[in-house]
Amino acid sequence: MTPSTTLMLASMDFWNFSIPAPMALAAVALIGYLFGTRTRPTATTETEQARRELRRARHVANELEKIADSVRRELAAHRACVTTFKNRVGELAEHEDDASWKALCQEAESMLKPTLELATKISLAYDEIRQQSTQLMSFTEVRTDPLTGVSNRRALDESLDNLFALLQRYKQAFSIAIFDIDHFKRINDERGHMHGDRMLQRFARLLDEAVRDTDIVARYGGEEFVVIMPHTDLEAASIFGERVRKLVREQLPLTTSAGLAQAREDDTPQSLIVRADSALYSAKGAGRDQVFLHDGVDIEPIGQFAGDMSELCAAE
Ligand code: GH3
Ligand code: MG
Ligand code: MG
Repeated sequence: MTPSTTLMLASMDFWNFSIPAPMALAAVALIGYLFGTRTRPTATTETEQARRELRRARHVANELEKIADSVRRELAAHRACVTTFKNRVGELAEHEDDASWKALCQEAESMLKPTLELATKISLAYDEIRQQSTQLMSFTEVRTDPLTGVSNRRALDESLDNLFALLQRYKQAFSIAIFDIDHFKRINDERGHMHGDRMLQRFARLLDEAVRDTDIVARYGGEEFVVIMPHTDLEAASIFGERVRKLVREQLPLTTSAGLAQAREDDTPQSLIVRADSALYSAKGAGRDQVFLHDGVDIEPIGQFAGDMSELCAAE
């Protein structure tokens, strides 16, 4: 082996044609996201999956962002290596007159061209991925409450619109619960606003963990949260409301009151929320740490009913 050939082979060490690992990761992330979106059952369409979708979108966007950065760096390094190699081949070709050596140079050139073209294509593809990840990110961000990470009012409104469409079209029942932390102002006044914020975060997490995957948790106002429960009538909502009330007592240094209402076909999102809010108001008036329901006519405590269901509550 001539010294020139040795030098050339050494140069080839850093000329790695293999597909960078981040590319494979990006492909998996994208395929996973798209596959998940396409294979979701129709019975649990956008509305029911909205909260999970937002989380997944945010996660995928973050991953894509990282991958795009990493690939861009790898690609720049790869390009530099390829260019160096090309220059070196050119230099060697000038000093060697051997015909086979020239042929080798030509072969190297013909390999380099498609590699550079491929590098350009990859670069463009990643620009596109970056753009998509930015879109996903802003889609998620504008629908998420920044303090607690649950859905915000906008996402809540969209979910309610979708569920009303399903109710009117397919008669799919759903209920909502409004939870309001009791005497939250006092908590803020006594322990400070930062502590209050932490309590809001813990409260939201508790709700998020207590609900079904198909439910939607949204921050409705300062210390008020709405849970939307698809495929749930008022009885089942009462069981859930009571379970959350007890969990809050057990796990947090505070209590909550709740108002429940089931959607009717002639409702609007506003009229449904007004009913649940009236029930909540009654729960407050009755001394707080209680769950009341509005059945369309009357407002009453769920007390006895939820008591009958205590075994079911424990089983859930
Ligand atoms: P009630 O039992 O009747 O619900 O009494 P409350 O004190 O919880 O209700 P009120 O509406 O009087 O007070 C709500 C408090 O929530 C007042 C407001 O400063 C506080 N709050 C609203 N948003 C936030 C927030 O993002 N962080 C913190 N720390 N406090 C907030
Ligand atoms: Mg309030
Ligand atoms: Mg309150």
